[in-house]
Amino acid sequence: MINKSIPTEPSTPQELRTIHDFTDEFLVVCPRCGHKAVVKPSTDGLPPRLTCLNCGSVRQWTSAQKGVLFSKQSGTWPEGQYALGDAADPYFHLPLWLQTSCCGHTLWAFNQRHLQYLRDFVAAKDRHTPPRETKDPLNSLLTSRLPKWMQLARNRDAVLHAIVVLETKHNNGNSQASTAAGR
Ligand SMILES: [Zn+2]
Repeated sequence: MINKSIPTEPSTPQELRTIHDFTDEFLVVCPRCGHKAVVKPSTDGLPPRLTCLNCGSVRQWTSAQKGVLFSKQSGTWPEGQYALGDAADPYFHLPLWLQTSCCGHTLWAFNQRHLQYLRDFVAAKDRHTPPRETKDPLNSLLTSRLPKWMQLARNRDAVLHAIVVLETKHNNGNSQASTAAGR
């Protein structure tokens, strides 16, 4: 936990968050049917798992490497390694459902709460970047780890638009994929 006392307005979105506040659920593209699937971490004695309500796919994850890998290139993440830093879930390394191009980059979110947090942060007019905790990447504040391009005022409208696109995709759920597949 972060023990530092950092002044923030109680009603502003600059709550102290780490990326780990959003790692309770990952919306991903199902590797079998291409619809929205859910990856959950280990809970109630069950291993981390993938579940797709559309095609019934279920997968269990087995750890092969200890620790957490931070890397922006999910293509290089070793199998069985819990990894963060790219538009893929940390367990199976499947592409995130909530991702879209924006300002020459990829905007992504693990889940709806994560997306909402990004929206609140980007929409805030009077935001500030809290001090960065450098000792342990696990304790780093999410806002301090947001890429620079997301924090630039000139990109705000484009980023907010991309977030709306993802919110729409989330709200439509599988129906969007069904529509795309329909003829
Ligand atoms: Zn599926």
